Amino acid sequence: MNQITGSAKCSSYDREEVCRAVENAIEAAGGLPPLAGKKVLLKPNLLSDAGYEKAVSTQPEVLYAVGKLVLEAGGVPLIADSSGAGILYTPRVMKRVYQKCGITRIAGDLGITLSNETGSQDRAFPEGKVMKHFTVIDQACEADVIISVCKLKTHMFTQYSGAVKNTFGVVPGLDKPVFHSRFPDPADFSEMLVDLNELIRPDFVVMDAVVGMEGSGPMSGDPRHVGYILASKSVYTLDVTAQRLISMDPLRIPTTAAAAARGLVDPESVVTAGDAIIPLTDFVLPSTYSSPSRNTWFRRNVLRRFQTMGKYYAPAPVVKKEICVGCGQCVRICPVGAAAMKGQKASFDHRKCIRCYCCHEMCQYHAIEMKRSMAGRFLHMFLR
Ligand code: SF4
Ligand code: SF4
Repeated sequence: MNQITGSAKCSSYDREEVCRAVENAIEAAGGLPPLAGKKVLLKPNLLSDAGYEKAVSTQPEVLYAVGKLVLEAGGVPLIADSSGAGILYTPRVMKRVYQKCGITRIAGDLGITLSNETGSQDRAFPEGKVMKHFTVIDQACEADVIISVCKLKTHMFTQYSGAVKNTFGVVPGLDKPVFHSRFPDPADFSEMLVDLNELIRPDFVVMDAVVGMEGSGPMSGDPRHVGYILASKSVYTLDVTAQRLISMDPLRIPTTAAAAARGLVDPESVVTAGDAIIPLTDFVLPSTYSSPSRNTWFRRNVLRRFQTMGKYYAPAPVVKKEICVGCGQCVRICPVGAAAMKGQKASFDHRKCIRCYCCHEMCQYHAIEMKRSMAGRFLHMFLR
């Protein structure tokens, strides 16, 4: 079990500074695996075509810096991802995403040809805890080495999005909502994510934590300067460090809790090498997160009980009618048919809604807010 995260301060996305920080963080983490002659998949977080300026996707300069090191080590880099739930995984759609997220530009700078392939394969995983097989994009199946190049963000459903969550991008577009429907509880969904990471086993991970997303991530939060590049041989180890960096308790994050329960990480033993990590105590966490100082046994168990009765406690989507443009993306993505168009505006049936937050995640117009019922607000005041 690798428990080291390399860290390097990085104040901006200036190319030279990012290249230096990425190199330092990787070195502090123990270095990249041997890459000579190997096909190396660089897997960024390209949640949507909303672009990187709003901290939705991995900043392309970080991807450039990793790609440059792969080339220098004799590897053959390729870049691929499938965007968030409900975004089609087709050559035309991915071309637009790559363009808007700055990937086409940096691929040109690196001299890499972006593949138009959008095929996928079934991969059996009999040892999975909750999933015995996954459909995975071809590039992830065919690469010799996978380097995840993830983004530090909050997440309304899983509370945090970093290395473990980034691997979900190897599942092709429209397969993703099915998982939300099958695993409506964040704890179960996180077990699925850990299964997927154990199948894919990214060989190395680099995190863009120069500017992260705080608040209502992963799409509608606010960019926040954090100032680090992180690197590790373990997705679980890196996530623990990043969670501490934004003052989250790692064991309150369901992906890390699931990995820790399987012995894949021990948060107490994770160490940082390189520049010291100074936690941001005022990083705005998602409203679904409850702070460790209030995480008593009583609160945890009462909270779990009410989360099971999520309709009373968990925030539910409400459309901001003045902003909704009627694009219908939320209706297409909803795994249980709880979203519908009424006139030209979205509307949500809270009785059907399983609180997966896919609609909130994918609304590019930030026209969906998550609100608690009155009973939920009362419980939240008591439990948070
Ligand atoms: S709420 Fe957002 S995703 Fe849904 S129709 Fe309106 S603008 Fe589109
Ligand atoms: S309406 Fe509810 S179930 Fe449907 S996508 Fe939104 S949060 Fe998920």
